[in-house]
Amino acid sequence: MADIPVWTDERLNKLKKLWEQGLSISQIGEELDVSRNAIAGKVYRLGLPKRQSPISGASSGPKAAPKSDSIADMDASTLPLKLALRTINWSRSQCSWPIGDPKSTAFRFCGENVVQGKPYCNEHCFDAYTTSRESGSN
Ligand SMILES: [Zn+2]
Repeated sequence: MADIPVWTDERLNKLKKLWEQGLSISQIGEELDVSRNAIAGKVYRLGLPKRQSPISGASSGPKAAPKSDSIADMDASTLPLKLALRTINWSRSQCSWPIGDPKSTAFRFCGENVVQGKPYCNEHCFDAYTTSRESGSN
């Protein structure tokens, strides 16, 4: 019985297949009824690619998706930009004439539809251009 070869072609192929499927050494050992050491040695000698991914083994738990972390980071960093763009869109089509004291919470922008090609509504265009022309303050 001792001269039965452990590694027949069939078993070698199965080892490679199981290895590619990502089974652990001990799992492959159970499949082939071979000790872990024999599997490890064979894998090493066959030069099978090391699977150093964290998927196999202990850390296949809640930390299995590191990609979602980076996506969350991207979202967080792009959010202010989106908000900024939205503000720009808003001010393009609506009067951005400031109303009230910018330091107070009651401060807001006019928000009326702008005159085409101007940053302000009709009324505030009038205000803007007359005050600057007369250079007088009230
Ligand atoms: Zn206005």
